[in-house]
Amino acid sequence: MVGSVVVNDSVVLLQVIGKVKPPAEEIEPAEIPTRSAPSGSENGGKKEIVLGRNLHSSSFRITEPEEDEELTGDCEAYMASVLAKYRRNLVERTKHHLGYPYNLDFEYGALSQLQPFSINNLGDPFIESNYGVHSRQFEVGVLDWFARLWELEKNEYWGYITNCGTEGNLHGILIGREVFPDGVLYASRESHYSVFKAARMYRMDCVKVKTLVSGEIDCSDFQAKLIENQEKPAIVNVNIGTTVKGAVDDLDLVIKLLEESGFENRFYIHCDGALFGLMMPFVKRAPKVTFRKPIGSVSVSGHKFIGCPVPCGVQITRKTHINAVSRDVEYLASRDATIMGSRNGHAPLFLWYALNRKGYRGFQKEVQRCLLSAHFLKGRLRAAGIGAMLNELSSTVVFERPQDDEFVRKWQLACEGNIAHVVVMPNVTVEKLCVFVDELVRVRSVWSSGGEISPPCIAAEVGRENCDCLLHLHGQ
Ligand SMILES: *Cc1c(COP(=O)(O)O)cnc(C)c1O
Repeated sequence: MVGSVVVNDSVVLLQVIGKVKPPAEEIEPAEIPTRSAPSGSENGGKKEIVLGRNLHSSSFRITEPEEDEELTGDCEAYMASVLAKYRRNLVERTKHHLGYPYNLDFEYGALSQLQPFSINNLGDPFIESNYGVHSRQFEVGVLDWFARLWELEKNEYWGYITNCGTEGNLHGILIGREVFPDGVLYASRESHYSVFKAARMYRMDCVKVKTLVSGEIDCSDFQAKLIENQEKPAIVNVNIGTTVKGAVDDLDLVIKLLEESGFENRFYIHCDGALFGLMMPFVKRAPKVTFRKPIGSVSVSGHKFIGCPVPCGVQITRKTHINAVSRDVEYLASRDATIMGSRNGHAPLFLWYALNRKGYRGFQKEVQRCLLSAHFLKGRLRAAGIGAMLNELSSTVVFERPQDDEFVRKWQLACEGNIAHVVVMPNVTVEKLCVFVDELVRVRSVWSSGGEISPPCIAAEVGRENCDCLLHLHGQ
């Protein structure tokens, strides 16, 4: 999936190599992201991803302090200048970001007093380990909130704060595999790449299920594939908001098909709610993710809708399942039930703080604003003659891929094949969307050379009714 590859600026910027110290004036981090990034060569319409080009020339070197450093202070000055410029760059890049589902607007100033501590929640959140500098009190508070959101009793759930949505998926699918060691993993082809990574890591049989134009799992194909593999239990990844189109799989229909196809008591469902798992509970008319239904686990990312300075996530499962993946570890004086060993103890503090500040009603307001702004964006794009699609429950607006790489980089759009998307998060205002659309319309008229090059047909990706290519323009 081309769109899944995140060339993260901060990763690029933090690459450190070499040891020659350049004069401070020569470093211009602010220029880096707008410089031609690894531009892939065309390959049958798909861009190849070229690794590493430019990274070495734009990295910040590690410099050895000179013998007389204390006298000259060169090293300190060098570091201060790099960091100041890097900071300006972050401010600018944060301003122009629309493509990834990250809420970049948050305020955790009150937590800066905790930065000097090496907070580590290694081991099981519910079992005190011998390492005392932890934040389990906060972690369990946050987990209780999520368990309540997804309707699982305190004494019936288990969970932990992960590093990211991917870790939640790796954990949920691992539980499924441990509960049903010979189970077959089913996931729609528009599932996040981490689901297929899990299948490779755990060497599981994995069946890719077709999707509808909306991006939802195609349940008739799902049923056909279940019947083909009837002798083995089913482990199903259900998407609560797909990465590219924000589509929500029909959980109720998935359960119904499993039960009707002879899988009763022989299936495990993991719900991947990385982005939308935290938005859907606040959308009126939306179907419900709840442990009152026969699901095994749900995961979300913490840095997406909530917004957080470090990537993190939440994974909730049933207590009855967790024993299948746990091992006691004497060294920890705890139980090993997580994917990672050391765990970021700052993440629970951020989540605890955000949940307390915003609460249920705060999230509800933010979700409504995102959905409205997304509708606004889709309307503006269509009015400008640009093909665009917005799933009913989603704030992800899918549209024709801009043909200008510079523009894509500036707004940090995620692209896949002929389409790109904007994910409207709480920090994305209507004003910003207006600036974006105006600029898109302007650069688009340049690359289409005043109408000589017609826009690509994206009917296959977004449906005819949403496509504005010459063929489908008038709804033919
Ligand atoms: C973003 C995303 C993930 C992965 O989450 P990370 O926090 O980036 O690891 C998984 N699934 C879906 C649907 C996503 O959108």
